[in-house]
Amino acid sequence: MTIEISDKTYDEEFVKKVEEISGENFHKCMQCGMCSGGCPMIEYMDIPPRRIMILTHFGLKDKVISSKTAWICATCNACSVRCPRGVELTKVMEAIRQLTLRKNINYVEPSAISEETIADLPQIALVSCFRKHTS
Ligand code: SF4
Ligand code: SF4
Repeated sequence: MTIEISDKTYDEEFVKKVEEISGENFHKCMQCGMCSGGCPMIEYMDIPPRRIMILTHFGLKDKVISSKTAWICATCNACSVRCPRGVELTKVMEAIRQLTLRKNINYVEPSAISEETIADLPQIALVSCFRKHTS
């Protein structure tokens, strides 16, 4: 992935918001890849957690917000435990989701799920999904 940075692409407000909501200093990330290496969901993500950290550091809001990575994240905390710089990526992923959810935009629209699918899925999984993916 090529990262192009300029005054036009750096979104300072986005960086400050992620800092504020997550309470994390993701600028400490040294791009070692330990987080991505231990992520059980990585095969379903379009951008690995390591890259999400550098894209967020550089304020590339559009790339981060349009990625499905934060939504796929299972909040398992494996990345945070492995990070040698003590970055709690789980909190950063939550902050990225919140930037969308706080605009009253649902990532998963409950009314669009068919009755058959709802009947097939474990109720606990549905509740968990709605908590994380709806505003
Ligand atoms: S918390 Fe999310 S990003 Fe981190 S290892 Fe688990 S699934 Fe991957
Ligand atoms: S494990 Fe920590 S330092 Fe390494 S790439 Fe991931 S966030 Fe950055």
